[in-house]
Amino acid sequence: DKADFDSETQSVCPFCGVGCLVSLKVKDGRIAHVEGINGPANEGRLCVKGRFGFDYIHHEHRLTKPLIRRTDAPPKGLNVDPGNLSTHFREASWDEALDAAAGGLGGLRTAHGGRSVAGFGSAKCTNEEAYLFQKLIREGFGHNNVDHCTRLCHASSVAALLENVGSGAVTATFNEIENADVAIVIGANPVENHPVAATYFKQFAKRGGKLIVMDPRGIGLRSFASHMLQFRPGTDVAMLNAIMATIVEEGLYDEAYIAQRTENWEAEKAHLADFAPEKMAKICGIDAATLRDVARTFAGAKAGMIFWGMGVSQHIHGTDNSRCLISLALMCGHVGRPGTGLHPLRGQNNVQGASDAGLIPMFLPDYQSVTDDGLRQRFTELWGSEDFGDQKGLTVTEILDDVHAGRIRGMYILGENPAMSDPDVEHAREALAKLEHLVVQDIFLTETANFADVILPASALYEKAGTVSNTNRQVQMVRPALAPPGEAREDWAITMELARKLGLDWRYTHPREVFTEMKITMSSLDNITWERLERESVTYPSLSEQDPGQAVVFGDGFPREGGRAKFTPAAIIAPDEAPDEEYPMVMTTGRQLEHWHTGSMTRRSKVLDSVEPEANCSLHPATLRKLGVEPGGMVRLSTRRGSIEIMARSDRAVSPDMVFVPFAYVEAAANVLTNPALDPYGKIPEFKFSAVRVEPA
Ligand code: SF4
Repeated sequence: DKADFDSETQSVCPFCGVGCLVSLKVKDGRIAHVEGINGPANEGRLCVKGRFGFDYIHHEHRLTKPLIRRTDAPPKGLNVDPGNLSTHFREASWDEALDAAAGGLGGLRTAHGGRSVAGFGSAKCTNEEAYLFQKLIREGFGHNNVDHCTRLCHASSVAALLENVGSGAVTATFNEIENADVAIVIGANPVENHPVAATYFKQFAKRGGKLIVMDPRGIGLRSFASHMLQFRPGTDVAMLNAIMATIVEEGLYDEAYIAQRTENWEAEKAHLADFAPEKMAKICGIDAATLRDVARTFAGAKAGMIFWGMGVSQHIHGTDNSRCLISLALMCGHVGRPGTGLHPLRGQNNVQGASDAGLIPMFLPDYQSVTDDGLRQRFTELWGSEDFGDQKGLTVTEILDDVHAGRIRGMYILGENPAMSDPDVEHAREALAKLEHLVVQDIFLTETANFADVILPASALYEKAGTVSNTNRQVQMVRPALAPPGEAREDWAITMELARKLGLDWRYTHPREVFTEMKITMSSLDNITWERLERESVTYPSLSEQDPGQAVVFGDGFPREGGRAKFTPAAIIAPDEAPDEEYPMVMTTGRQLEHWHTGSMTRRSKVLDSVEPEANCSLHPATLRKLGVEPGGMVRLSTRRGSIEIMARSDRAVSPDMVFVPFAYVEAAANVLTNPALDPYGKIPEFKFSAVRVEPA
């Protein structure tokens, strides 16, 4: 009942890229209840995280005052008790803390040049905060060494999409599945990671749509699938090329579409001649008849869509995996019409928007290349700044490598947690400890903040104003239901104050002004105004003030030279490390329904943490029997990077030679084990394939 609450505010769920709209009911200064409302992506629905996972914002560990590392603090390490910060930090006024932050980073700029300082922003921030963060690094330090967690998520998908269709965003919203008759979901587990999107996929299957699920794990959508292809990990290219080879061999491709809308078809066709299903079946573990049936089903669809997740992207051949998916859709003419499209399901709530806003080292806002002198000049004129250079910046893992090499000495990290999220995380933690000056802006003492020199207390999403863009390209308004606790501030305001202390003449008084500045150089925001977003969510591109936005794009050509999409053939590349006698199994990592990314929020949510309180991994019952470990017993997982001990669950969805490990648990951090080898195009690490040894603990 409305009368039970003091206020009601509409905002956007802070967790996954679905971007569910929520109504936040506040009572006595606390969020008391959250319910789904009629957003374009959720139509009133919420998953358990959106519905019950909000109470982290009232957790006793919230940072409420600026902190400065004590001069007598113990050496930097993962050694701070979040309940007793005074052993390592002392409280400071905002003025003192911002002076210390700007003094440390600015001092490095003076002594060693701007390149000695780098920045990690966050996909948890609003579009305006992401824009300001990249602007601070570019304008304030004169280079492009700024990145965020897209590098660990869909960077390879974006690289392939930009290369072959000319745009990194989805070509169709996930709701378009309503107009499809066949859909492929590969390397994604939407039932746990995009649960509300999964409800649309399930309804599609219940209505008779053919759902083709491809994943090395037998994920939750399998019971709705017309075809379940549980292929061998790391063999995506072999499997997808075999499907495409069938389409070529049996003449099932859309000749007219290929002729009118694409280029490089002959090269793709010739390349596929080597990938007959009968040959590839031995590699990918899926029999040739099934591969042929899938090819006929997808190519024969009136309208087909492809959805993918990090099972596709997080490989050293992640860009090749996405190239195959793009080629498969193009050869069947399944891009640019209702019910067709390519859709990498975005992870974090604003990873699309943060990337659009230029929080990446190779692109300015709206994917305008830093190597283009004319484009850079537009920004330097707008900002009144010096040129920040045509050198593409370093990515997340490369920045930490440069810290080890002594070239980067200071960092500003906003809302990102590399001490948990990076591959071979001990390497990342050592880099953070080595920094001469680290400024962390966050809502909790994250594992990364353990290493900070200055900590700036920030705001949760439900405490701030701004806009975010979901996996569907829908731009939506975030509104504050509460003020940040204590002396904590909104992130855009902290970044602005830090910029001013660094000598930049920034004078924003509200995120609305930042959004207005973004619109000057971002044509994707044409016809989308702040005032409009106050009233409605808008999908970009929007063709007029009345147009709700284009759910499907590229019906009239692709944003590439000549308007044509491109086929880029992909060869088989083996995973970086093969299982051997010492490390005979394959480890893959991911998320669980209840825990979000590095767990900093969801492990502080009572409902979510009580459902899933303990670090766990999944092993096939036959593997557990072989090890002599009961379900619930402890196992030791070891790779070439390190070892963890973790509780083992029995799970038939995992094949006997695999182990699945969620990465949210600091006490058994999966990323102690993961392989930092990178995809050469997207620079994304191979989180999904590490050779591992499993033993009873
Ligand atoms: Fe939030 Fe995603 Fe769940 Fe929606 S599906 S409620 S956006 S976590």
